[in-house]
Amino acid sequence: MLYFVFTTGRCNLRCSYCGGSFNPEIVPWRVEYDLGDLIRLVEGDGDATIAFYGGEPLLNPGFIMEVMDAVPARRFVVQTNGTAVRALPPEYWRRMDAVLLSIDGPEGVTDGYRGRGVYRTVLSSARWLREVGFSGDLIARMTVSEGSDVYRDARHLLELGLFDHVHWQIDAVWSEGWADFRGWAERVYKPGVSRLVDYWISEAREGRVPGLVPVLGVLRVELTGESMGIPPCGAGRDAFAVSTDGRVLACPIAVAEGWAELGRLGSVGPGDLPGRVSIGEPCASCPYLRYCGGRCLYAHVERLWGEEGFEALCDLTRHLVDEVLSVADEVRALIGEGRIDPGEVLYPPYNNTTEIIP
Ligand code: SF4
Ligand code: SF4
Repeated sequence: MLYFVFTTGRCNLRCSYCGGSFNPEIVPWRVEYDLGDLIRLVEGDGDATIAFYGGEPLLNPGFIMEVMDAVPARRFVVQTNGTAVRALPPEYWRRMDAVLLSIDGPEGVTDGYRGRGVYRTVLSSARWLREVGFSGDLIARMTVSEGSDVYRDARHLLELGLFDHVHWQIDAVWSEGWADFRGWAERVYKPGVSRLVDYWISEAREGRVPGLVPVLGVLRVELTGESMGIPPCGAGRDAFAVSTDGRVLACPIAVAEGWAELGRLGSVGPGDLPGRVSIGEPCASCPYLRYCGGRCLYAHVERLWGEEGFEALCDLTRHLVDEVLSVADEVRALIGEGRIDPGEVLYPPYNNTTEIIP
């Protein structure tokens, strides 16, 4: 299972689509539970991944070290804004399996959403991680919003040559700031996804496998015959979050939603958690469910953009799936001819917190 472990509710940035720190009354800025309770939750799970989360998790490096020294997880992952990586000593970075650095594209796009200087800081952090010996999966985690061109921005990040993989999420959870979501979707996003798939397959013909997570995730379903997990991120199924106050949640975003609260550390075991919240209609009878997995449990339950907004996002998911499936036969042939390595295509190898469907 995947356990998101909050190290703090505090963040040192105020990104335009997020707003920064959690209210400390909802997600305390210090860890308030006994580490032994986390150990007891995880220790019977031979396939546990711990993903450090916040707030900005590296504002509490001491707790990360305590967890990595004491909790018998198989893998460690961190999702960070990349501004404080030097707070954690190199020997801990060398034990991380995946690092997700938040960066949205070129300097103007990233700094426009996240604040001046963030782009350069994140790139410097990425280089530093490699210099100190981090050898795991370095993932650029993009938020795609109204100033984004998904094609330009994802290509930019891939071509930096620093990141193994690039994943994007559409800024469609809480955001009410969109002037024209549908216009952007038709003019920029859908053509951008089509161009990314064209780019991906043209690279594959040359024996290269661009690390575009949404493309790889959908291909994986088609190539293996295994359906996408419902939901793809695992929320409520095999991914859970432990807040700093010890509450165990179905989704790390749902810190104040009663439906997501599954219990408290110390009083729940891993067997008590799965299946308490799940994806229902319209996904259950949607022909794309096999590839989409219902996209996001939080969005499914909350529907903050209403039914119409939900459908607008489904339209983008269906477009992505259709575009990827249009090249699947050729990908199969390229693998069959030994031109590309199936090990690179079948991604992710475990739930590394990339939610796959944007
Ligand atoms: S496309 Fe929409 S309705 Fe269909 S499974 Fe995905 S989220 Fe659910
Ligand atoms: S994709 Fe949705 S349900 Fe999954 S972790 Fe993110 S917000 Fe939660």
